Amino acid sequence: MKRVYNFAAGPSMLPLTVLEKVQQELLSYQDSGMSVMELSHRSGLYTEVIRGAEQLLRDLMNIPENYKVLFIQGGASQQFAMIPMNLLVKSGKADFVNTGSWSKKAIKEAKKFGEVRVIATSEDENFTYIPKVDSTMIDPEADYVHITTNNTIEGTAFRDFPDTGNVPLVADMSSNILSEEIDVSKFALIYAGAQKNIGPAGLTVVIIREDLIGHAEETCPTMLDYKTHSESGSLYNTPPTFAIYMAKLVFDWLSDHGGIKAMQKVNEEKARVLYNYIDGSKFFSSPVRKDSRSIMNIPFVIPNRELDTAFVKQAQAKGLETLKGHRSVGGMRASIYNAMPLEGVQALVDFMREFEEEHILKK
Ligand SMILES: *Cc1c(COP(=O)(O)O)cnc(C)c1O
Repeated sequence: MKRVYNFAAGPSMLPLTVLEKVQQELLSYQDSGMSVMELSHRSGLYTEVIRGAEQLLRDLMNIPENYKVLFIQGGASQQFAMIPMNLLVKSGKADFVNTGSWSKKAIKEAKKFGEVRVIATSEDENFTYIPKVDSTMIDPEADYVHITTNNTIEGTAFRDFPDTGNVPLVADMSSNILSEEIDVSKFALIYAGAQKNIGPAGLTVVIIREDLIGHAEETCPTMLDYKTHSESGSLYNTPPTFAIYMAKLVFDWLSDHGGIKAMQKVNEEKARVLYNYIDGSKFFSSPVRKDSRSIMNIPFVIPNRELDTAFVKQAQAKGLETLKGHRSVGGMRASIYNAMPLEGVQALVDFMREFEEEHILKK
């Protein structure tokens, strides 16, 4: 059976053992004679799945008691609207840090609901670094401060999170949730589309401090009110049952591999191997400032852009899939989420070395 190292930014690689388990259980889940896809979301068996997934995530991330974990649909993109609809309701003002394409989309959407201020941005240098944010920049009256902790397209990540004092800190963690240890209590709300580091597309995870729930306006659509999902245990209507089941298997896999602390070590090692090679190369280079580099998404460029296509094609022939950079940045990008093993990154570096030697000799 053919399996490749898939460097896609999302949907992305899933652990092979998880896929095998899904295959094994596909036709008859726990001897029910039914697939998880066919189970009622209100059945006892499924209740164990969804509550089990929640508990595993709570344990993995050390989520405090006063936070709710919600499993909803609509992707991270729907959160761009849901967050202001639920949180931008006191002063009607929010502060945003603009670190790239996803931040911009979040900003654009929030503007439909209130007064949005961009307090820091790295747009001046094509979003190749994370701007400094200090507490004096924050409006103490703001309903929240929004950051994108890992910028999937640009390949940057916050190393320290801004201290926002009493102003709630909201974070889009779509592309780095579960990749490194974080202190959840520093955030008021964390959200992530599942298809990068959690499971299949179709599921969005929201971790929200309880005091922020229940303030949406009367006119807020039921499905877009956090209260609806919080009060029903994410079972107000039919949730994405299969995606939640698979997320649970990924959480199990993470726990079996030593949890986030162990995963972070591997992730740092993977990024180190790739960045070491890039930094030592006379051919490849990184557009991202060293202090702002993501360990999940690593863009790199070659001086002769005409070689991009050849690189991506030859890599693909070697089972190194989807290395083309995002259309807004160009070049290449390797997304190396939790499910990408160190061997995958080593195989990529081996190929890069071959490619470099071949083309440097030709020059
Ligand atoms: C992928 C991504 C999104 C969009 O997620 P969808 O689930 O497709 O809406 C938003 N923010 C970040 C940081 C992402 O990486």
